[in-house]
Amino acid sequence: MSRTLPVEKNQYVDAVFEDLTHDGAGVAKIDGYPIFVPSGLPGERAKVKVIKVNKGYAIGRLIEIYEQSPARVEAACPIYKQCGGCQLQHLQYGEQLKWKEKHVRDVIERIGKLKDVKIHPTLGMSDPWRYRNKAQVPIGEREGGLIAGFYQKRSHEIIEMDECFIQQQKNDNTVQTVKQICQRYGISAYDEDKNKGILRHIIVRHGFKTGEVMIVFITRTENLPYKKELINDIITRIYGVKSIIQNINGKRTNVILGKETKVLWGREVIYDYIGNVKFVISARSFYQVNPEQTKVLYEKALQYAQLSGEETVIDAYCGIGTISLFLAEKAKKVYGVEIVPEAIEDANRNAKLNQITNVEFAVGAAETVIPKWYKQGVQADVLVVDPPRKGCDEALLETIVNMKPKRVVYVSCNPATLARDLRILEDGGYKTSEIQPVDMFPQTGHVECVALIELK
Ligand code: SAH
Repeated sequence: MSRTLPVEKNQYVDAVFEDLTHDGAGVAKIDGYPIFVPSGLPGERAKVKVIKVNKGYAIGRLIEIYEQSPARVEAACPIYKQCGGCQLQHLQYGEQLKWKEKHVRDVIERIGKLKDVKIHPTLGMSDPWRYRNKAQVPIGEREGGLIAGFYQKRSHEIIEMDECFIQQQKNDNTVQTVKQICQRYGISAYDEDKNKGILRHIIVRHGFKTGEVMIVFITRTENLPYKKELINDIITRIYGVKSIIQNINGKRTNVILGKETKVLWGREVIYDYIGNVKFVISARSFYQVNPEQTKVLYEKALQYAQLSGEETVIDAYCGIGTISLFLAEKAKKVYGVEIVPEAIEDANRNAKLNQITNVEFAVGAAETVIPKWYKQGVQADVLVVDPPRKGCDEALLETIVNMKPKRVVYVSCNPATLARDLRILEDGGYKTSEIQPVDMFPQTGHVECVALIELK
């Protein structure tokens, strides 16, 4: 079979990169057959070693760049190549933004079969570093000492990391200090192979506006030795700590959090603000990781919703109610729906916290709850969706087409499923008026979009 393909494994080829994949690999073509090469940039000519050959594409390794792109920069992070958490550090930030815009346009045209949609330049950050408000680090042991870091690409080997350039400095410092404190009391790290040891992960969350810090110990056993001493050292050494939590996960699994969560010290939650809305963040709840850009994203969604105060709004996939509460001030009534019951508990708590009374939250799948509401006579003027990567369920899109809200505001973390869903809405009588890419995850290949879709 491989004889019919233009390249063979271990062969060296001259490649010219034309594009980037969604995870930041350069794409070169040999007789129309694509080769994906991590770190290759569009416009570059390079020597590539073919390391894997599949029917539809090959994977290559960059050996030598003959002609370098003017957009190539030295990656800031010394462990960029090993880590894999970022994919675009070697591309100038302005070019990252341009690429994200182009990527959205390509996918909307190719998958959505939509021509001439207005796609705006990506809204980027003025400082595209140190933006993450949550650090989640695996703990290991080396020569008797604790290490905190990340799993090496495609492995379970922990690589030590003192700092992460897309993490808020406060989180890096907190992780290091907690690690030192645990070391001091001889807390053992979890050993995956033997299923022994105690500490599996440390999670640190940080309120962007409030400065409040939450520390979560994820342990294999309920027993955490020197609890009092650990707590005492943490609250004396780390400024802003409001909550210390233990989560117990005794299972042999890649899932980080276990079922049982206990407060070791302080509150069960920390608080943060997006705009003027205050939110509780608990150890388990989903909360956007880039608070600065979240505000940009939600403001765009609010602008696209064009609310006058008279509208009924449905917020599908509402999580802890962030978008619902952000819109509630400008709407008559907002209905939020979300599949995770704990998230809805948080959403109700958040509504109370902000004294917002014109929202109602329901637990369930958007594709079953919204059709039910529709049958009961709920008529939305504006419908907001913010689905996970797989996009909206077809049953939901069908209900939207029948319900005919004037506007749909689609918040998407995956341009491919956005494009697919836009096609269905267009066929059902809607028009995609504009799309705004927002850079929620600088240095990575991820693209977030807000789309305005209007009834024709
Ligand atoms: N709008 C929120 C959350 C977006 S993340 C925010 O900006 O913070 C997507 C959410 O969709 C998650 O909370 C996930 O639990 C939820 N979800 C996934 N599948 C769902 C479904 N079929 N119906 C409703 N919610 C779903």
